[in-house]
Amino acid sequence: KTFKDLGLIPQLCEACDTLGYKAPTAIQTEAIPLALQNRDLIGLAETGSGKTAAFALPILQALMDKPQPFFGLVLAPTRELAYQISEAFEALGSTISVRSVVLVGGMDMVPQAIAIGKRPHIIVATPGRLLDHLENTKGFSLRSLKYLVMDEADRLLDMDFGPIIDKILKVLPRERRTFLFSATMSSKVEGLQRASLSNPLRVSV
Ligand code: AMP
Repeated sequence: KTFKDLGLIPQLCEACDTLGYKAPTAIQTEAIPLALQNRDLIGLAETGSGKTAAFALPILQALMDKPQPFFGLVLAPTRELAYQISEAFEALGSTISVRSVVLVGGMDMVPQAIAIGKRPHIIVATPGRLLDHLENTKGFSLRSLKYLVMDEADRLLDMDFGPIIDKILKVLPRERRTFLFSATMSSKVEGLQRASLSNPLRVSV
């Protein structure tokens, strides 16, 4: 199968080509068509499987259709992963000038607040710092969010981000799509899944 076969628009197929992606990976082949059909997804996949593009490409396609600030939020367990995800969004979305911001702990809040003020399309964040901005950065809200991704959900919960994620979920619109990716399933991940996804499909590789 090709990226085009999965239902992706030419600009995004081109971006994959430019990045040297010759064909979709297994998780991309399974997840992208379902995500494009507007379904919530649980993806069981490890790092290296191509999971980032599996959730980024459908979000970018929806964003192109109707560009809006604060369109997508990705929660990641670590700073390093957050930066990698943001870079992937910008590389895959370069043909459509996607703007993303990374909100992670251990960095000055002020430049992050300024970046929020520029109303980026995509936010990639670690949960604690995102909540800090939601509570303290004037004018910042995620009321118009369309897509939530929880990446490496098992690690998010192992790092005890569960209570913070619960607080974040409370201020997100219910009318949204949610993708949860995890390398492993556990009762904690299942709890988060019940709290955040509606009628999800499960894909695994
Ligand atoms: P990830 O599992 O999302 O961390 O991706 C692992 C690596 O695979 C990243 O460096 C991606 O740029 C790369 N990658 C993602 N999708 C593909 C693809 N379809 N073909 C080749 N490489 C890919």
